[in-house]
Parts: sequence; structure tokens; C-alpha cells
Amino acid sequence: MIRRLALIFCLCLITPLALQTEQQPLPVTNAPRAIRRDVPMTNAIRRAFEAGTRDTSGRPGPNYWQLQTDYTIEARLDPPAQTITGTETIALHNNSPQELTEIVLRLDHNIFRGLAPRGASVPAENTDGMVVTRLAVNGEAVDLTPAAPGTAGRVGGNRGRGGNAGAPRRLSVSGLDQTVARISLAAPVPAKSTATLEIAWHTKLPGGPNGRGHRMTQRVDDTLFQPTQWFPRVAKYDDLRGWDLSVYMGPAEFYNNFGRFDVKLDVPGGWIVSGTGVLQNPQEVLTAKARERLSHVLESDEVITIVGEDEAGPGQATAPGERLVWHMTADMVNDFAWATAKDYVWRATRATIPGKGPVPVHMVYVPTHANLYTNAGPIARHALEFYSKLWAPYPFPQLTLQDGPSAGMEYPMVINSNQGAADHETGHQWWPMMVGNNETWYGWMDEGFNQYMNILSGADSAKTPPNLDGLGQSYGRTSGDENEPPMMWSANNAGSMYSFQTYSKTPLMLSMLGGIVGDAEVQRAMSEYTKAWAFKHPSPWDYIFFMDKALGRNLEWFWYYWLWTTESVDGSIANVSTNGAKTAVTVRQDGQMPSPVVLKIKFAETGAPIKPMVNAKMLDDTTALVTWPVDVWFVGNRTFVANLDFGGREITTITLDPGCRFPDRDPSDNVWPRPAAPSAPSAGGPGGRRGGSCGG
Ligand SMILES: [Zn+2]
Repeated sequence: MIRRLALIFCLCLITPLALQTEQQPLPVTNAPRAIRRDVPMTNAIRRAFEAGTRDTSGRPGPNYWQLQTDYTIEARLDPPAQTITGTETIALHNNSPQELTEIVLRLDHNIFRGLAPRGASVPAENTDGMVVTRLAVNGEAVDLTPAAPGTAGRVGGNRGRGGNAGAPRRLSVSGLDQTVARISLAAPVPAKSTATLEIAWHTKLPGGPNGRGHRMTQRVDDTLFQPTQWFPRVAKYDDLRGWDLSVYMGPAEFYNNFGRFDVKLDVPGGWIVSGTGVLQNPQEVLTAKARERLSHVLESDEVITIVGEDEAGPGQATAPGERLVWHMTADMVNDFAWATAKDYVWRATRATIPGKGPVPVHMVYVPTHANLYTNAGPIARHALEFYSKLWAPYPFPQLTLQDGPSAGMEYPMVINSNQGAADHETGHQWWPMMVGNNETWYGWMDEGFNQYMNILSGADSAKTPPNLDGLGQSYGRTSGDENEPPMMWSANNAGSMYSFQTYSKTPLMLSMLGGIVGDAEVQRAMSEYTKAWAFKHPSPWDYIFFMDKALGRNLEWFWYYWLWTTESVDGSIANVSTNGAKTAVTVRQDGQMPSPVVLKIKFAETGAPIKPMVNAKMLDDTTALVTWPVDVWFVGNRTFVANLDFGGREITTITLDPGCRFPDRDPSDNVWPRPAAPSAPSAGGPGGRRGGSCGG
């Protein structure tokens, strides 16, 4: 804040005519604020409201529906060729009230083709991508010959459902060389019916030293494979936008249907396989010794060895046999990932889920990475138990940490992580694995919530109270950066500040929310939100309306400024004047975002008795916290005179926003009297998280 008070008093004397001829540019911050107090309703959310699939309760609406996709997959890994060859049958349950005239497929491995569009991610090698060799819908084979240029249309060039209206419909597919392919159906899939897709494919897993970004390197030579996005998937079709046509660019993540997976993985004997789901045939693929050791995993918090470093090859690491087929199933998951290696060590421990009991925590890693897994079991256990208490009990039957070139990715029941990211990646089991938000558009509902809960988990691990002070205020130093996309802007297009938009900003937002309603209240409401949307697909509006209901207040102004804009509060104490027992504090907000007015008043040790004020609470004998609601700004003023009447006790210090929760470019002007000769705007400089006056 650099504007000074004198300006606003003279400005109001200038007539509109004078303004027009005034040569000096208007100080922008003297313009009255129009504070928006509702959130924008886009066409997508309006449609959902009209259809009754979502509403202002923030809970799934009376007509809420979602597709379910059940996969039966058989796949074979050929290590020398570094290739997976598979067949799958997908039961697509069209639970929508609309017939489907097309089916959209996600072929994420086509990002490894040289010609598919990419974000900042760089594959370790270019491959032929996801090569679909057979595709049938309800038993009818689809012609896989690429359509002539300019006819069936590329992805994104064929807007709207149905495509060539008027022309006779033909079963065809376009975009098989892209990450999003579209099957045009001759016979639509009727509402409330099931279609069956059969797909055969092969894909080479990229390996090598040059991959950049998660999921871009999926193997180590031909001895370890970490397949992800490795099978053709049905895209999401929802009540907001119909088919999700967002292309897979690399950095932003997924939006997947829930359903059941039944997966058989054919790998060389001696190679341990881990993955989403529960192993169905341990007697066929494990040794008797490993099965016996597994039977003790749930007995204690000890980390025990299931397959040791000295047990290698068929008959030692696994059951004997040149090839073994590992059969896994998972109910109600939105993806399936796995890993296998020639020399994995397998260790396991347990986590005890409140209200549910113990579940196994598995770790598979190569012997040379043992030092990265010494604390992984306890960290994953703490995360599973802590987040179960914080939000909702962990819903899955196991969790596995998989070693490999990808170390920092999450899938249902599986994290590609060592101990370094174990807490964060385990957090993803709540979002998006349990609460299936659209990560491609709204990464903040996934990564952002996760960053927030990681702060709480970290404090719990350290046995210290979580401290969210300073975070909200620190956003003031970012606000105004032209590269910042608003959080409602699709994360797929977030550009150079993707990481800030998707990861970093949400804890700042929730810090401010805690500064308004209390951190415990934020966490209670988030826990109820988690339970209300478990295994469903909330939109940001559902989250907003749910939180408002759960917190018992209309916070649309708050959500609007944080999610749709890049504005900050920029508060300051502009003036303080005392008249007898009364003190008038002029608080100023130069930003567009409003906030409640919170003042910490420090009194002299002795003097007249301190008289209570209705909107104040005493923090100790000589310190009061006084609060005015955000409503004081809704008339559009930029200054608010906070009248203090505590009796005659002398006031020594007044601090605005003492918890440092409200975005502020320069917190050094939040204290009165101003600190003598401050070294100017260095307070709360870019290095530090705390603002100048925070923590007092
Ligand atoms: Zn993450």
C-alpha cells in the first residue's frame, strides 16, 4: 500500500466535470469497489441445476447420475520388447438419461508419439503410442482405417454430439493417433443401458534418461516396469459437459469413471507384481513362504519382509514357472496401475483405519533403493491413519508403494513413491481416488486440498499444533502477476504458473477461510464434503455450496475472489485517533477482495478498567481481539472506521489481521503506531512465509 489518505478526501470534492478535464491520472485505488457477492454460474452448472443433478445444497442432486465402467483386462508384458499387449472388455453402464451417440476413448500413451500435442512433459522416448489393433462395440467391429483428412474430424474439430447431422450414421472412429479418440456409433447407446466395448492394443513403455515429468518414464531398461495410463479407457461423460474432450498434455491429470477392475497380468516368473486391487490367486503366483509371511502383516506395526533380496527368480521370489499370471480385482476405483520388476524386494506393514481395522501397506523396491524405504512404512501408516480421522476412513483394502523411475504419482491403492512423497501421494487416496473430482480442469480440488492436508499431517507427525497463519496473507505477494491463471481456469491450460494455481494457492485460500470461520470449522466442513461426495464427481460449485451450508454462512464473495480472480485484500491501518476513552481506527483495503476486519488491541499494563465490547474477546489480561464482519465493505467503501470503546485504558499497539490470513502485498502497514524507521517494504519479503506483523 503506497497510497496515502489525503488523496481520498480531496477526490470527493472534485466534480465529475472536473474529473474529465483533470490531467492527473486517477489513483486507481480511490475508485469505489463493487464487491461481487455471488459466484459466476457457467452454462455447464446451469444445465446441471436445471436437470436437478446438482443444486445449492452442494450435495448430489435428486437426479444425480454418473457412468460406471467395468474393465476386464488381460495383458502380457514382454520385457525384451518393453511392450504390453492386451485385450480388454469394458462394460459401459450408461446411467445418464441421454442416449450416447458416440463413445470417447482416452489413449494417453499417444502422448509418447512425436506428433501428439504436449505440455511441459517430455517422454523418455518417442514410441508408436497406444496402438489399437481391434475395436468392437456390442460385438460389431469398428473400421480402424483412418478417416480421410477433413471428414470424420480431428479431436476438437467436431464439436457437439452427433457430428454429421443428417448423414446416415456409420460405426467409425477418429483420433486413434491422439490422446482422445471418438467412436461414432451407428446405433446409439440408449439411456439406462449397458454397452460393451472390446479393445485389443499394444503399447511400448518409454524408458531412458531424458524423460521429464510424471508418467513420462515408465521403465528401467527391461528389468523394471511401472505401467500407468497403459490401457484404453472410456472418457468421462457427465451432466456438466457431456463427453470430456480435454486432451492429455502431461502435467495436468485425470477425470475418470468409477467401476470394477478384473485384471490378469502375464509376466515372467520371478517378477513380483504389485498394483491396484487385491491379489486373487496368491497360491498360483507366490511361494508358500511368502504366503505364510503375508498372513502376519496385520498382526503388528512391524515392517516385515515378504520377499527378501536373497530370494530371486522363479521358485524363490515367486512360484516356479517361466511365466506367471497375476490376477487382481478392485471394486469402485477410477484407474488401475501396476508395477513389476525382476528383482523387487517386498516388505509390508499395516495401518489401522478408524472404524475399520488394519489394512496392509506393501512396499516393493529394488535392493539399491532400500535406503529410500526405511521410513516409508511408518510414513504411509501415519498418512492413512491421520487422513482417515481428518476426512473419512480410508476406503480401500490395501495400499502399495511402488519403486521405479516415477516417484511421485498416485493411483487407487497404489502410489509410485518412496518415503519422500509418501505422505502427499497417500493423501491422493482421498482425492481424486475417493472424491472423483475433475483434475484436468480443477487441479486445485486435488493437489491443492492435498497440499493443505499435508500441512496438517506434517504438524501431527511433528507433534506440534498446525499453524496456518501467514499463508493467506502471503498471497498478496503473488496477486497481480500477469502469469497467474485464476483457479477456475482449466489446469490443462494453466501455463507457467500451473504449479501455483494447482498446488500452492489452495492452502493460502483455506488459510484465509480459517481466518474467517476457524481452522477446525474448515476441516469439519471438508470432512462432511468428503463423505457426501465419496465415489462421486463434485464440481467446484458443489464444493462451494456445500461449504457454505456446512459453515452456515454465505461465503460466495470469498469463493468468487479466490477462485475466479487473482485479487487480494491489501489491508492497512490508515489512521488512528483517540478522543477520551474512544479510539477510531481507520482501516483501508486497497485491493478488490474484501475481508473481515480483525484488530488485535494491546493495552497498557495498568490504568482504567478494560470495558468489554460485544465484538471483542480478551486473549489475555491486556490483549483483545476485535472483529467486524466482511459486510462492512459491501457498500463499496475503501475505508472503514472501527470504533473502539474499551474504557479509558491506554492502547499501546493495534495490529490489523494479526493472524496474517488475508492477502496483503505489504503487511508492514498493518501495525499502529508504525514501527520506527522500518527498513521499508522488506517485511514479509519473498523469502519468508510470515508477514511483518504475523505471529504476534
Ligand atoms: Zn499430488
